[in-house]
Amino acid sequence: MNIEELLHREDYTHDDIVQLLNLSKEDEIQNLYKRADEVRKNYCGDEVHLRAVIEISNYCSQNCLYCRNREDNFSIKRYRLATAEIIELSKQISNLGIYTIILQSGLDSYFDTDMIAYLIYSIKQNANIAVTLSLGERRYDEYRAWKIAGADRYILKYTTSNPKHYELYHKNKSLSDRLNHLKFLKGLGFQVASGNIIGLPFQTMDDIANDILLAKEIDFDSAIFSPFIPSPFTPFQNKRGVDIDLTLKTIAVARIVLRNMHIPAPSSLCKIDTHGRIKGLESGANVVTPDFTPQMYKAPFTPNKLKKTELRDSSLIKSNLSLQIESIGRKIADNKGDSFKNQIDLNRYSYR
Ligand code: SF4
Repeated sequence: MNIEELLHREDYTHDDIVQLLNLSKEDEIQNLYKRADEVRKNYCGDEVHLRAVIEISNYCSQNCLYCRNREDNFSIKRYRLATAEIIELSKQISNLGIYTIILQSGLDSYFDTDMIAYLIYSIKQNANIAVTLSLGERRYDEYRAWKIAGADRYILKYTTSNPKHYELYHKNKSLSDRLNHLKFLKGLGFQVASGNIIGLPFQTMDDIANDILLAKEIDFDSAIFSPFIPSPFTPFQNKRGVDIDLTLKTIAVARIVLRNMHIPAPSSLCKIDTHGRIKGLESGANVVTPDFTPQMYKAPFTPNKLKKTELRDSSLIKSNLSLQIESIGRKIADNKGDSFKNQIDLNRYSYR
């Protein structure tokens, strides 16, 4: 099929998506990015939404084969932030004019139901900010308690739509369970974000196309497609990472297929290309997720003086992002960047 015609279709089959992901001529790839940028502008506008990530803990009781934070990785220094520190950091972020925080951790039972509920409630009392949780696959009663406490959004990746690969990457876990959790979260009224990891070992273009179609089928509020970058001291440490081209093509095709979902340019894009974040924003993305975790945790052996400069560093993160975003004619949103979807049909997401 003619590529121009394919780029302007109303609906996309699996084969259409594979054809777009396989584009290899430079002019066709550039047309794909241009079309994705147009669709982004039509459905999401020019605003770029900032979601400030605070990694509250890097402890995890799971052993996902690709993940640096897996329990069996004894090479990393583990940390947890204190609740008072998280609340203070959230206030600082809100004062910078950033209206979403993402509280992120591995599967860490130290942050139990009550502690997370307390955090959500306290943050919402002190700051005008949307609270997104990214705490892994937790119990259904915990999701419910955290929604009641005021949480707005939940991020839980399906990682792959291929059930066999899912079981390979995540020991003793199943894709169907993960999808039930996602549907339950939607049913509770969370704005839900999910997505894949591009370039994982054994993944094919067919898999990536199915990953995009799964996001469409479940109708997430936000779809996240992030690159696989091998981490040292993990079972996949010697596997080949994905290149920027396939990552950007996936984001662009996802935008064309998924239309009005938020789609981030993941921070990890900057690890595979110096200008990765901007390239992502020019290929269909409308969200960025800068990391506001205090540097003293990320670089545990750096002198304590870093602590005194945290706020200044946070301001710098924001002003640097502003400059980058304005350089491509876009602007940082001054709102929470809620879902573009209007109504959540609760009946559709009954589970069990
Ligand atoms: S649950 Fe999350 S943090 Fe833990 S090992 Fe898996 S991907 Fe990593």
